[in-house]
Amino acid sequence: MAPPKKGELTQEEKELLEVIGQGNVQETGRLLGSKNVRVNCLDEHGMTPLMHAAYKGKMDMCRMLLRHGANVNCNEHEHGYTALMFAGLSGNKEITRLMLEAGADTDVVNSVGRTAAQMAAFVGQHDCVTVINNFCPRERLDYYTKPQGLEKEPRLPPKLAGPLHKMVTTTNLHPVKIVMLVKENPLLAEEDALKKCYRVMDLICEKCMKQRDMNEVLAMKMHYISCIFQKCIKFLTEREDKMDGFIKSLLKGRETDGFPVYQEKFIRECIRKFPYCETTLLQQLVRSIAPVEIGSDPTAFSVLTQAITGQVGFVDVEFCTTCGEKGANKRCSVCKMVIYCNQDCQKIHWFTHKKVCKVLKAVYEKQELEAAKEKKRQEERPAQEKEPDVDSNPSNEEQPETDPGHAEEDPTDLAQEEKAHVEEASQITSGAGGDTGLQGMAGSVKEAEE
Ligand SMILES: [Zn+2]
Ligand SMILES: [Zn+2]
Repeated sequence: MAPPKKGELTQEEKELLEVIGQGNVQETGRLLGSKNVRVNCLDEHGMTPLMHAAYKGKMDMCRMLLRHGANVNCNEHEHGYTALMFAGLSGNKEITRLMLEAGADTDVVNSVGRTAAQMAAFVGQHDCVTVINNFCPRERLDYYTKPQGLEKEPRLPPKLAGPLHKMVTTTNLHPVKIVMLVKENPLLAEEDALKKCYRVMDLICEKCMKQRDMNEVLAMKMHYISCIFQKCIKFLTEREDKMDGFIKSLLKGRETDGFPVYQEKFIRECIRKFPYCETTLLQQLVRSIAPVEIGSDPTAFSVLTQAITGQVGFVDVEFCTTCGEKGANKRCSVCKMVIYCNQDCQKIHWFTHKKVCKVLKAVYEKQELEAAKEKKRQEERPAQEKEPDVDSNPSNEEQPETDPGHAEEDPTDLAQEEKAHVEEASQITSGAGGDTGLQGMAGSVKEAEE
């Protein structure tokens, strides 16, 4: 079939563009199977079906078109827009990521010299900008696995490119998680490999800052990972407990409230050491962190994560207290106030958590009591006033605060509630009470109660 010309569409290709707009997956599939449909056909503006699908935010369509061989880097559009640019303009993060994974070139510019990231930023689609800026194609690392110029050997041993790429593309920037990833990989977890890796990270960081389309986000991320690697080396060479010592230091909470002071200071120091002091991103970070007292919110970790990954709100989703992994659902069975991915994460944290577990338990019980009072109050309200019973779960952490409008409580009711609660609490802790050691705790992570 001849290469597609702008605006020369068969009847079925015209239909294809129409059904893509309607989001009709079935019809799209049928038409893509037709011999009269070219997947990279061009409408009168030079837009391919993939560009249409990306611009309209139709994820299923984009996937299907790519499966059928759509060219993600087609650049026939009259203003030089690519599918990635359309994805960024649409504000759909998933489609933006899909285009990148399909090999979309991030450096291509449109007819007025703007990249996809710049265009997305121009229309205020900052989530898409973050996705584009955080994306680091494997080739970027692979470049260093071949000797360049007069080098006798490559800066990065090829076997390290894979594990390093995994780390670079992570969205969980928790220092403990990164150290865990290093520790898990025998190729990485030694001084020489870590040295090579951090130097490559530093080189990529420099490149990100010096390229025409400067990428501060990726530069900061590379610098941050480099700092962690350098600290790993320090612990590997100077400490008997090696990287476990680093993890312990990162997790150790202070006496008063268990806040991990070393971790906070370490992340602040990483940010401060970013070598390009004039960048907007660095100045923003410093402005957000500098006035915050150690132990208050926001933590340096949350500020950095938000700047780099665009993730906001550590409230709705549950993150592992140890490693920051999303979707953690195992709760400490004593205090019910901390959540972990699994028993391993709990064991790692226990040496410091045990000092505050009881205090947290008291906090939890107070919250429970408040919640129970609130529930009773709701039940006692006349039927027509009742709100729909969304979640009567007593262990839900997001119980509404006591409504100040109903502050007065019947003291006898309160006493009864309290008594009932104390009984319940003693049931929960029996067997795990006393001076619980690691052994006692080891088997006691349990599923978060639904
Ligand atoms: Zn974890
Ligand atoms: Zn606990």
